[in-house]
Order: sequence, then structure tokens, then C-alpha cells
Amino acid sequence: MNQESEVSVSKSLNIEENDTIFHKILRKQIPSTSVYEDHKVYAFKDINPQAPVHIIIIPKEMQGLNMLSNANESNVEILGYLLYSASLIAKQLNLGNGYRIVINNGKEGCQSVNYIHIHLLGGAQFGWPPGTNF
Ligand code: 5GP
Repeated sequence: MNQESEVSVSKSLNIEENDTIFHKILRKQIPSTSVYEDHKVYAFKDINPQAPVHIIIIPKEMQGLNMLSNANESNVEILGYLLYSASLIAKQLNLGNGYRIVINNGKEGCQSVNYIHIHLLGGAQFGWPPGTNF
């Protein structure tokens, strides 16, 4: 399925807070382009890429963790594993010259999907500081 049909499928679904678009992607109710999967995480291409490489990495078990600010000690292992898996995926995608990891948290952090996830961005020279647009 191409990107346009992915968009129309996702827009046609009614997304509830406890059943987000990423839950539906995991259940294969919404198509996604997988780049990596193991027993703990699933990684797929962002539908609206902000860099030549833009991957979303999510835990297969959300563990009630909708956003980073709600993390507790029981989430430490999966948070570490998300970062570790990002390093594996970056190697797999030949991002040897560097890349950026982003976690948007909450309204002012511009988080739009209420399921913990990290962005892996690469394939271009980024600037610093990152754009803020405030
Ligand atoms: P956030 O803004 O919550 O940090 O990031 C959510 C990301 O998920 C956005 O970059 C957005 O483009 C991506 N996204 C939203 N819906 C879909 C979808 O249906 N499929 C894919 N592949 N990515 C999506």
C-alpha cells in the first residue's frame, strides 16, 4: 500500500486515547512500512517524514506508558531498549555519519500520538539548536 492510501486509512479511523494509531499499526489494522522488529519493539517509516530517514520506534507492549513524563521505574528497561534498538536500526540503515533521536512529550512538546515512541531521524546534515518555531 502506498503512502497516500496509508494516510486515508488512518484518517478514516476514530482514534481513542487508549487505542491509538500505533496500537492499530501493531495489530496490522493500519498498514506501515516496517524497518525492524523484534520481541520488544516495532519500527516503521514515519508517514510524514521530516528527514530523508525518519523512523518511529515503539514498544510492542505499551505498559501504560503514553508519554515520557508518565514514566516510572517499571518502564526503565523498555526505555533503555528503545534507545538501544534505535542504535541497531541506525546501523542497519547505514546512518554511520550520525543521526538524531527525538521524543516529543505532551502538548508543548508537540506530541501527537498518545503512545510512547521515539523518532530516529537521519540521512542529512542537521543544525543545532533544533528548530522551535515558537
Ligand atoms: P509525535 O508527534 O507524537 O511525536 O509523532 C507521531 C508521528 O507519527 C508523526 O511524526 C506522524 O507523522 C507519525 N504518524 C502518525 N500517524 C501515522 C500513521 O498512520 N502511519 C505512520 N507510519 N506514521 C504516522
